[in-house]
Order: sequence, then C-alpha cells, then structure tokens
Amino acid sequence: MARPLWFGELLKKTFPNIQLIAKLTKVPIIGRLVDKLLFEGDNIIYLTQDKLIPINQSIEKQDDLVLPSQVLEYFINKAKYHFIMNTCICRESLDCQDYPQDLGCLFMGEGILDINPRLGKKVSKEEALDHSKKCREAGLVHLIGRNKLDKQWLGVEDGNKLLTVCNCDPCCCLWRITPVLTPRISSKVTKMTGVKVKVTDKCIGCGTCTKDICFVDAIHLVGKRASINENCKGCGRCVSVCPQNAIELTIEDEQYIKKAIRRIDKLVDVI
Ligand code: SF4
Ligand code: SF4
Ligand code: SF4
Repeated sequence: MARPLWFGELLKKTFPNIQLIAKLTKVPIIGRLVDKLLFEGDNIIYLTQDKLIPINQSIEKQDDLVLPSQVLEYFINKAKYHFIMNTCICRESLDCQDYPQDLGCLFMGEGILDINPRLGKKVSKEEALDHSKKCREAGLVHLIGRNKLDKQWLGVEDGNKLLTVCNCDPCCCLWRITPVLTPRISSKVTKMTGVKVKVTDKCIGCGTCTKDICFVDAIHLVGKRASINENCKGCGRCVSVCPQNAIELTIEDEQYIKKAIRRIDKLVDVI
C-alpha cells in the first residue's frame, strides 16, 4: 500500500543522523536486522561518468565503446512505467546548496503504481531520458539497481518490480553512508566491472581531489600523494577535478556495459 506523505517527512528527519545509524550496523545483530529489513537482495551499481570513457587506453577498438549512461537508457527504453520524484529527499533534507534539490530519484517498473502519486509523477520514456540527461549535466552520478529500502519506504508490494535510479551528489546523498555500513550491506553497492582508478606519478599532492569530491571518502593524501582505497566505486569524479590529470581511469572489460545490464536484468523485472 502506498505510504502516506507523513512517512516521507519522518524519513527526512532521520537524515542528519544517518551516518550514526549506519555505523550502528557494525554491531552484528543490528547489521543483520537492518540488512534483512532494508537491504536484502540488493545489488546496486555506480555508473562511471560518461565523459571519462574516452581516456581509456586499455580497450583497443575505441569505436565500439559504449557509455555507462547507456545502461540507464537501456532500462528506460525497456520499462513501461517510469516515475520521477518531485524532489531529491536527501538534498532537500540537508538543504543542499551545491546540487539541485529538484532532481530526484527515478523509479521504473510496475512497482511504481504503488507509489503515492503526490510524491512525484508518472512520466514518459522521453521525459525519463531527459531527466537523466539533466542529472548528468548537473554533475550527478547515477546509481542503478534493486534497493529494498526504496521498496519499503515507498510501500511497493513487489520489490522485484521496482528499479531504483539515484542521482548521487558528493555532499548529501544517502549512499555516502556506504563506507561506514557493515560490509555485509556495503558490498551490495559496487563499481562497474573492470573499472580501475589509480593515482599516477603526475600527482603533486595538491589535495584538490580530497576535498568534498568523493562521496565514499575513498581518496586521501598519504604523505605527498593522493591514494585511493578499496571503497572506491569508480564514479570518476576525482579524475575530473585533478588539475594535473594525475588520476587515471581505465576500463579493462569490454563487456562492462553488457555485464551491468545483465546483472540488473536478473534482479528486477521492469516490464
Ligand atoms: S537516493 Fe539519490 S536521488 Fe534519491 S533522494 Fe537520495 S540523493 Fe536524491
Ligand atoms: S588533485 Fe591530482 S595532483 Fe592534486 S592531490 Fe589529487 S591526484 Fe594529486
Ligand atoms: S576515489 Fe574517485 S573514482 Fe573512486 S569513488 Fe571516489 S571520487 Fe569516485
């Protein structure tokens, strides 16, 4: 049954404390319970920013390259039902000043018919494509997959019929909790297959890439050089900001788009 609007308002109030709540999942019994209630069956992929793909050196046939946003476009074209939220509740809750509060989540699949219509609107394929383009132009990064948390708070009956697309920012997005969650939950949010990000010898240690750029806090200065840890989700945002072009993003798997599509196709039925 569709959740009443007050439910969403209540959820927004928990946002300022979300990091603390996420940390509690490291207590084993709490982690298991939260996983069961809100993340069971999840599988979510960060789509690397399109603009970074041409720098890849490791795939020989550049003409054959397809862009990460094509994963999203595939599902928008496949789905019969699309729903765009009126606002991004993460950015709205924290009164985000850096990224648009009105570019909210996109949901697809029959599950959207259960969402309270006052939270957003049913849109056409064209409107969904336009929305996702606006999100990329605003510097937001897509996350796409199955997310039980959305099924629960939106009151969707069948999670197999709800595909979530978050348009993530580095300051307010819910998914910033990933590094502090218990690994049993955080491991469900992954980068695209074959995406590798590394700091090269061109790094001069200016620190630009470490300041409010990475939403999973995966890049830090170690001595006089930036270093990327295992939390990296391959979004590529740090690559874009480095004034020395010292961060290299490569894609070592030519099938990276097909694999992302296959992964999600198995989990969510968007017909
Ligand atoms: S999940 Fe992403 S798009 Fe959705 S409300 Fe949060 S930041 Fe906004
Ligand atoms: S922005 Fe570039 S040069 Fe500066 S610390 Fe990061 S990787 Fe190094
Ligand atoms: S380290 Fe760079 S590529 Fe990896 S998640 Fe952070 S900003 Fe994105």
